[in-house]
Amino acid sequence: MNFQQSWIEPPELCFPYQDEIRSGECGQGYAMRMAIGNGMVGLPWVKHALGKTHSAVLNAGDAPYLAQWFGASVQLLEFALERLTRGRREQGFSYAGQTLGRQYFLTRSFPRVCPDCLRELGHCRIAWDMALTVACARHRRVLLDRCPSCLRALSWNRPGLDLCSCGFAFKMEDVPETPTASELFLARVIDQRMDDFGSPECGPGAAGVATDEATEALSALLRNLSLDGVMRIVYALATAATYDLDSQIKRERGSLSKARQTVAIAAAFSVKAAYLDATVLRTQRPTVLVDLLIDVAASSRASPEDLSFAHSMLGWLMANASRSGWGARHASLSQRELF
Ligand SMILES: [Zn+2]
Ligand SMILES: [Zn+2]
Repeated sequence: MNFQQSWIEPPELCFPYQDEIRSGECGQGYAMRMAIGNGMVGLPWVKHALGKTHSAVLNAGDAPYLAQWFGASVQLLEFALERLTRGRREQGFSYAGQTLGRQYFLTRSFPRVCPDCLRELGHCRIAWDMALTVACARHRRVLLDRCPSCLRALSWNRPGLDLCSCGFAFKMEDVPETPTASELFLARVIDQRMDDFGSPECGPGAAGVATDEATEALSALLRNLSLDGVMRIVYALATAATYDLDSQIKRERGSLSKARQTVAIAAAFSVKAAYLDATVLRTQRPTVLVDLLIDVAASSRASPEDLSFAHSMLGWLMANASRSGWGARHASLSQRELF
């Protein structure tokens, strides 16, 4: 901690405007909201006072200071900030009460917002920090990750919750893109797993919500899985699709467009997975996918549903793999006692 440059010892600060962190609010969004509410320049001030760099991400270790300054309870703040397991992110971490196995399941440096939620709720939702949340199920729209005016990526260091660093205020009309059925479905699944029930029903079959074959298949595959299981399986499906000989996929760049592509690829491929079609897999680099599934199997925290899904998915992939050729090269893997 480096407090030397501050005019007062930050741990002893106590700002006039105090508020508890709200249910469903993300920790970094809370710090931004409270700093701005007290006339400070948002997260840049908070990071400076904590002795962190401009690009740093707040974590559970910062909770006691934020609680002292702004009036939230330490416990609720810790819940809404990232906490590393055994001090190392590679070994998993917890976020909003969920244990997550991969760093890229969260998008921490590239914020996304729903301007309508910001206007209605007045806070940044914690579900927006999940990498596969690309839409708002409440308002049925694609999230905003880029300023419609200056076209730069949104930053956590922006001067207001709904304000870009260029001064532009986000509005509903700024996002003409409508989400796909799969994107809305996944947003709803993540909201449910994160206990944020503010969104209306928008799963397959919900009133007024269009669905399609891919979303139905995805829904069948993800039923009863934990949030970590949902993230692993969607990424596993997208990875498996890139091994599919039929696919000619050019990967998108940018956090949100990449995530939208992942959801689309996973949903399309889930139709094959749900019906156990004999998909021929590419013979190169199956390790990312297999690692994701084996990790589920090896995790003592995985739920019985996650375990059983990972088991059947691995069995299916192995069967297809031996047909396509990489199974022979990975014979040790297919013979391994996985469960
Ligand atoms: Zn919204
Ligand atoms: Zn801008």
